[in-house]
Amino acid sequence: MNRRILISGASITGLTLAYWLARHGFEPTVIERAPGLRGGGNGVDVRDQAIEVAERMGIMSRIQAARADVVGMAYVDDAGRNLARMVMQTGGDEVEIMRGDLAAILHQNARDGAEFVFGDSIAGMIQDADGVMVTFDHGGPRRFDLVIGADGIHSTVRRLAFGPEQRYLRYLGHYFAFADADPALGENRWVTAYNEPGRMAGIYRSGNHAGGKANFIFRRRDPVTFDHRDSEQHRRLLAEAFAGMGWRVPDLLAGALADPDLYVDSLAQVRMPAWSSGRIALAGDAAYCGSPVSGCGARLAMIGAYRLAGELAAAGGDHKVGFRRYQEGFTGTVRRMQQVGPNLRLVVPRSRLGAGIRNAIVKSPLLDSLAGMERILSPKSTRPLPDYQRLAVTRS
Ligand SMILES: Cc1cc2nc3c(=O)[nH]c(=O)nc-3n(C[C@H](O)[C@H](O)[C@H](O)COP(=O)(O)OP(=O)(O)OC[C@H]3O[C@@H](n4cnc5c(N)ncnc54)[C@H](O)[C@@H]3O)c2cc1C
Repeated sequence: MNRRILISGASITGLTLAYWLARHGFEPTVIERAPGLRGGGNGVDVRDQAIEVAERMGIMSRIQAARADVVGMAYVDDAGRNLARMVMQTGGDEVEIMRGDLAAILHQNARDGAEFVFGDSIAGMIQDADGVMVTFDHGGPRRFDLVIGADGIHSTVRRLAFGPEQRYLRYLGHYFAFADADPALGENRWVTAYNEPGRMAGIYRSGNHAGGKANFIFRRRDPVTFDHRDSEQHRRLLAEAFAGMGWRVPDLLAGALADPDLYVDSLAQVRMPAWSSGRIALAGDAAYCGSPVSGCGARLAMIGAYRLAGELAAAGGDHKVGFRRYQEGFTGTVRRMQQVGPNLRLVVPRSRLGAGIRNAIVKSPLLDSLAGMERILSPKSTRPLPDYQRLAVTRS
């Protein structure tokens, strides 16, 4: 049986995967490039089948307890007056939680069953009939039975095993940025957003958290030559795109440009014909990123990791069978959740007329709450979640 499995990336996908692989009797090792678990990010949704995954992991009550208590979304004009305001309480067990809080809960749950190596990255992989020889930037070479890339949209595992990312990234015509923000710039427990044609700047404030989170999205028809590690280029791009914008954008922008953890990237999806190549497979954003506007990133990560571990276990560790069933069973859900067209037009209208129509829709009695809007915009999984529990190994 393929027992020793290396996972690249300790975020939502890698941590969920490590937990389930250990539960099924595998021996996961997680390698993360950052020196520690990465916090940061805005609220992400745990909904649909991700709730079932979290319940089966026994962490749903902790996720509920750490939920971000954002009431709703307010679109404002240049003077900060409300143009449209909508409540977006999630329904049932659905939870919005800060990404860093979710990662911390998943890590706490996974750490006893897996080996964790922080501050290193896979540098090379050579696979043969029996396993994969892996070299690292810092540590000595090691041999594993299987390798899983859970290392995000700019995955190193994908580049090494499947080729350059340009083959798989589908540009969505926009760039986005996340950064910390002075909470005084936003309304407590609300997401406040300001639009000018082709640009959106906003601030996210959860009442359970002291800080605010700034969000920026701007339209750019053709992608620039972009290096996702060049932070100086990121700052220039953001400063140029939001120069001269009204409302509190100059202050949000100044804060973002001063934030050492400013995150800027093109808005893109990952579309791949195959998520595995021999003994190497991909999961989460590395394989099927939906982009932040899909609102499905954490969901796809948790459900995909659960399915991948479960199918490997169901196949008795046979990676050929397990990887194939993982892709066959999950492709439909991925395709559905990657449909982001209406979301993007609502978030970043291209014209003042478009923004006016968006605001009218938001205020409409038919869609007078984002809960209603979300039911329309947020797709659901296409197949029932398989129950792999019977394969779980009881650990003493
Ligand atoms: C710090 C951070 C903030 C985020 N904020 C938001 C947000 O506000 N809104 C949103 O919608 N999505 C956000 N995301 C993305 C979101 O987490 C994902 O879309 C989704 O949860 C799927 O997660 P993932 O684990 O597949 O990928 P990611 O969350 O992108 O995690 C990939 C992990 O792999 C690590 N990694 C990358 N390269 C290597 C390498 N060579 N070797 C080892 N490790 C590597 C990264 O450090 C990271 O921990 C954020 C991600 C991160 C890392």
